[in-house]
Amino acid sequence: MKGYCGQMLRVDLDGIAAYPIPLSEELAQDYIGGRGFVARLLWEELPPDVDALSPQNLMIIATGPLSGHLLPASGKTHFGCKSPATGGYADSNMGGHFGPQLKYAGYDAMMISGRADQPSILVIDGPTVELQPAGDHWGSGALSCEKALKDELGEDFEIITIGPAGENLVRFACISHDFGRQAGRTGVGAVMGSKNLKAIAVRGDKSLPVHDLPGLFAASKKMYQHIKEKPGFLGWTPEGTAGITDFCNRVGAFPTRNFSTSYAGHYKDINGAAVVEKVRLHDKGCCCCPTPCGKYGHARTNLGSAHVEGPEYETIALFGGVCVLENIEEVAYANYLCDELGLDTISAAVVAAWAIECFEKGLLTKEQLGRRVSFGDLESIKDLLELMAHRQGLGDRLAEGVKSASRWLGQGSEDFAIHVKGLEWTGYESRNAPGMMLSYMTADIGAHHNRSWALGNDVAGATVDVHSLISGGGEAKALGKSPVGGQSEAVINLQHLRPAFDLLGVCRLQFMELGIEVEHYEELFELVTGRKLSWQELLQASQRVWHLTRAISLRELGGIEREWDYPPARFMTEPVPSGPNQGHLITKAEVDQLLDEYYAARGWDQRGRPTRETLEAHGLADVAEELGGLIS
Ligand code: SF4
Repeated sequence: MKGYCGQMLRVDLDGIAAYPIPLSEELAQDYIGGRGFVARLLWEELPPDVDALSPQNLMIIATGPLSGHLLPASGKTHFGCKSPATGGYADSNMGGHFGPQLKYAGYDAMMISGRADQPSILVIDGPTVELQPAGDHWGSGALSCEKALKDELGEDFEIITIGPAGENLVRFACISHDFGRQAGRTGVGAVMGSKNLKAIAVRGDKSLPVHDLPGLFAASKKMYQHIKEKPGFLGWTPEGTAGITDFCNRVGAFPTRNFSTSYAGHYKDINGAAVVEKVRLHDKGCCCCPTPCGKYGHARTNLGSAHVEGPEYETIALFGGVCVLENIEEVAYANYLCDELGLDTISAAVVAAWAIECFEKGLLTKEQLGRRVSFGDLESIKDLLELMAHRQGLGDRLAEGVKSASRWLGQGSEDFAIHVKGLEWTGYESRNAPGMMLSYMTADIGAHHNRSWALGNDVAGATVDVHSLISGGGEAKALGKSPVGGQSEAVINLQHLRPAFDLLGVCRLQFMELGIEVEHYEELFELVTGRKLSWQELLQASQRVWHLTRAISLRELGGIEREWDYPPARFMTEPVPSGPNQGHLITKAEVDQLLDEYYAARGWDQRGRPTRETLEAHGLADVAEELGGLIS
């Protein structure tokens, strides 16, 4: 199998054993790599019904067939497990250089089970795998730990770490790498912490097997050139994802003040231009990336200063909008705190905003929180983040996530706990964007935007030229009511399209932002692997993975009902009070209409469970058989 290393590393921390196992050709054929490997390996290897933070949970790290090759943006690595945040299927990916280095050490993927008997660091140096005591690294920040390990082991090791949040099993702890890249979502950092793993360091010097090396060099060179010539190249790269902040405000999709509204008057102080002007020192990219969207910089605030990568759009929306920090350096500093503590910026900001709103409404006291807290106050945010990461006082409740914390507190606080399935919502307010709302509701890991970004379709459907809005000009303007109905086809197509890049192990942004043609990926795949794979066949594999991840959640939860896909009550009961979408909400009847159409188009029953017939039609007959009476 060209393109692949042909083996995975199995690590059993209970038995302190590490050994290679072959990568099956069937797995590579049907699931391609990356997220596809994560899903199939979890289905086959995860013991059903285990506690997500128990030693029995599996932590999977997977690359794709294009990862690590000399071709554009080949640095993506995928992490998967049973989610401590939702109890269902979890994955999260990061850029950087860890996955490529894992391949240079000889492995397409890793599967880690058990729990080390003391805090440890796993060091993979080519064929040698050692578990070393973490010593004083345990308790250190995620960024600090990476720096210290680089000093100890050598600059040529690629390293992933967790911070105190991961050690303390915070259910939205992230895994950090490359001083600012994170596998942020679904609590993968807590699972790493539950295994007593502070860090994994990897170094390798193997060549990757390539079917046609001269052909790959030529095609890659052509693609790099093509990317540089794309009209969006000079416009998109300088600000990266932060560049979309203005657009989101103009269309009323910028979540503000715990998602109570969708427009921030201060957006020009926290947008992409502000990042470039006030924070950025230089650009920073992942392995082989020609469009480095990372903005490494320096933030100075009243509470201190820090070097930090970011903030990218999500962190701007969550800390600048949802927590209402009104200047970009404060947003960047909150970003740094999360990175060092090992918290997902998205979930941490949603939890902090919920706590502040509870305080404002008199549901939480200053005695419980240790202080008065308010929106827009960096010191409040800093103290809340530290409470969460260290599980101090009320932080122990907050560390369980906004769904759990609001169920504990009650008193109506569940209505403004902004999540789906237990995973906190990301940076797009969607009460007047039914396609985006449906994307959030049906994303397999919980409320996350990267599976299907249907906002552009919504805005275009609401009689506004989305491109004119993105390219600037014009003030906020009222949009017509986006009609509910007919969204499922676009959302489903996007749910197959965007994760397709996750199977290959490359970044999707060159396609999404610059419009690189899919034929380039077909060509690269064949040159690397020697196997012809049409884009349609890749989308079929992506679709198979989509049904499989739902099946994993169905098995782990012992059943799924449609309530699992419902948005928070705030979006169904409170009209947007201000901004371009003032007055809009989505009704419960509209939510059910969206789900009815989506389930029917997916071939799922009205509870949201894939039918036997659907699973069999997508090559998942064995999955249907194991699910037995859970499906019809
Ligand atoms: Fe990494 Fe950004 Fe480049 Fe994608 S576009 S590979 S996320 S630097």
